[in-house]
Amino acid sequence: MLKTLATTLILGLPGTLIAGGPLVLEGSNGQVPATYANPEIIFNFETGALGPRDNDTADQLVRDALAIWNIIDTSTINITQGTDVPVDIDETNFTSYIPVPDSSTVHNDDDGLNPIVYDDDGGIIDEFFGIGQGTGPDATVVGFAASSILIGSCFFTEGFAVVNGNSDLRINDTDLTLIVAHEIGHYLGLDHSQTDIDNTELFIQRCPAFDDDDYPLMYPYACRSSQNTHADDNVALSTLYPTDDFFQQQGQLMGTFVTTEGVAVRGANLWVENIQTGEIYSIVSDYLKQFNGFFNLMLPPGSYILHANSINIEFFGGSSVGPYANTPFDVSFLPPASSIGADLVFNADGSVPEIINLEAGMSVEIVFRTDGSGSVTTSDTQIDLAQIYNSADACNATAGGGGGGTPSLPLLAALLCIPAYRLYTKHRI
Ligand SMILES: [Zn+2]
Repeated sequence: MLKTLATTLILGLPGTLIAGGPLVLEGSNGQVPATYANPEIIFNFETGALGPRDNDTADQLVRDALAIWNIIDTSTINITQGTDVPVDIDETNFTSYIPVPDSSTVHNDDDGLNPIVYDDDGGIIDEFFGIGQGTGPDATVVGFAASSILIGSCFFTEGFAVVNGNSDLRINDTDLTLIVAHEIGHYLGLDHSQTDIDNTELFIQRCPAFDDDDYPLMYPYACRSSQNTHADDNVALSTLYPTDDFFQQQGQLMGTFVTTEGVAVRGANLWVENIQTGEIYSIVSDYLKQFNGFFNLMLPPGSYILHANSINIEFFGGSSVGPYANTPFDVSFLPPASSIGADLVFNADGSVPEIINLEAGMSVEIVFRTDGSGSVTTSDTQIDLAQIYNSADACNATAGGGGGGTPSLPLLAALLCIPAYRLYTKHRI
């Protein structure tokens, strides 16, 4: 199976962030995971071919990618195909539909379109990432996607995705569908996830875990082979776009990850295993950038063991996991986060793993110290995530009561930005 590497190019203005779980933190306090206010999202496909794939084939591939997210029944996300953009978007006209590379003013993100662009030979990708990145035999970028947000707002405005049709990439339909689905995950506001994968795994090892499907769809490398999501993807999406009863049907596992001296550990990977189902879920410590080591997972009821490890040293920049991995010298790669090692098991005050029992509608709050010790406090209620984000205030402060504000034109021009481009670079095999 072709293995590919995901990377990110961060474009945009100061204040845009990558975060664990959520991709972008905004709101007036910079601590609210950004989402689409309306989970009914309409994409506008274009009318051209995707390299060797004709338009019908390309459309079906994208619909298959959308279905991977739509089928998650604990999330309200429903992405549908709307009216086509009535042209073949190519190098000559893409600046009328998606952001103009290197432009701080032309984003085309208030035109009522979420374009899916079939970049026939990679020429549009070259315009964004450099000559030869999308075109020719040494092309590396398979696609990218992004959503725009007003700085200070809680909600994305519009987004787009570009898929590379360059036949030299030699990617089969199954892999390309998963790559498009991964990009759509970023479009929706999802960050990469490390789950329980060996944090010393290097790209050159090409997804060595026993089963490809142990890898989440949002893993930084394209390792997954089944056209569906991992349990971790489901919880990540549903936490951003929950159905009415999602939270009450889950148990809330939350707390802080701190050193033995009580100092917040920021940017470490925290993962849990459900010991009944074997399912794995993860989040990055201090993923809301509150500087307290906070973590929160909304999990199916069951019994769990909590682990921590360091973020893989390759997962920076475009492959980043969490908000502290923008460069190889960022907080995730410095002590104490980098000193956690391969697997630290939470044992509370004993020498065996602490079994954490989660029930629907309840919460368990944990203090997890870097020697494995800590405390467990159970409550029969949950803490509202909006309260954790301070989102009522944070969103109302800038978004005119939930995102409906209409900034003046100069303000709009100054605030609009692209939070992140995600792209895949092909591993040459
Ligand atoms: Zn990615």
